[in-house]
Amino acid sequence: MSVKNKVALITGAASGIGKRIAEVLADNGAHIAIADINQAAAQAAADEIKARGVKGTAVVMDVTDEAAVEAGVDKTVKDLGSVDILVSNAGIQIVNPIENFAYSDWKKLMAIHVDGAFLTTRACLRRMYAAGNGGSVIYMGSVHSKEASKLKAPYVAAKHALIGLAKVVAKEGAAHKVRANVICPGFVRTPLVEKQIPEQAKELGISEADVIKNIMLKDTVDGEFTTVDDVAACALFFAGFGSNALTGQSIVVSHGWFMQ
Ligand code: NAD
Repeated sequence: MSVKNKVALITGAASGIGKRIAEVLADNGAHIAIADINQAAAQAAADEIKARGVKGTAVVMDVTDEAAVEAGVDKTVKDLGSVDILVSNAGIQIVNPIENFAYSDWKKLMAIHVDGAFLTTRACLRRMYAAGNGGSVIYMGSVHSKEASKLKAPYVAAKHALIGLAKVVAKEGAAHKVRANVICPGFVRTPLVEKQIPEQAKELGISEADVIKNIMLKDTVDGEFTTVDDVAACALFFAGFGSNALTGQSIVVSHGWFMQ
């Protein structure tokens, strides 16, 4: 049950949840590839990882670009020696009622969350299968992998899709000791969520405080945000779990917003 000396490639790791997962895996001895579309932030995050005493590398990657994903996974293996853990985490949010949703926005969101998960999974599985050391694939789902909210049609559809993908990877990967699981967080105060608060307030005609209290945290057991630390602890657990007993699963970390 350890990630020590494993190599983790984490997409969207220059900010928010992915960045904290990178730090926590590094603090437990994993070497880290920070994969992100934001080159400067990825380099800064990789430098911070190296300062924690493990190997780190920045991989500039748009997860929707097949060639960039292949090159980024190659760079990870070249710089760090292997890829044992994939955290498919890069994501965006776009809110709008369906009747106003631009098709281009629908396709953009689906591409980053679903196509990005597929492309990074395929590239990493090929390396994991060839190396023969097993592996762990972790998808960043959401409570919206299980539940719907108004204004988030493509996001809810995409997050549900990741659960299906994880189940297929669990079945296909089992013979290679590659496991796949999904983390489903409630609201976490990252840049992605900070942006939504004023947008939702405007769209719904309510105050920002009401968006937080009456929409985002309304159904939690205690009115609390989930934190990047909470999500990173789940990622460490999935990444370090040592057998196929825990595969094809999804875990909701949301202060009880959604209960299975
Ligand atoms: P964030 O905005 O802080 O970080 C997202 C990162 O993804 C950024 O560094 C961004 O540059 C990167 N990114 C965006 N598009 C990319 C692309 N095409 N290729 C590569 N990198 C790209 O957001 P966050 O809140 O940390 O979100 C991370 C993941 O967690 C997302 O999948 C999101 O849907 C999920 N999530 C977030 C919350 C929340 O409340 N914050 C809740 C549940 C799930």
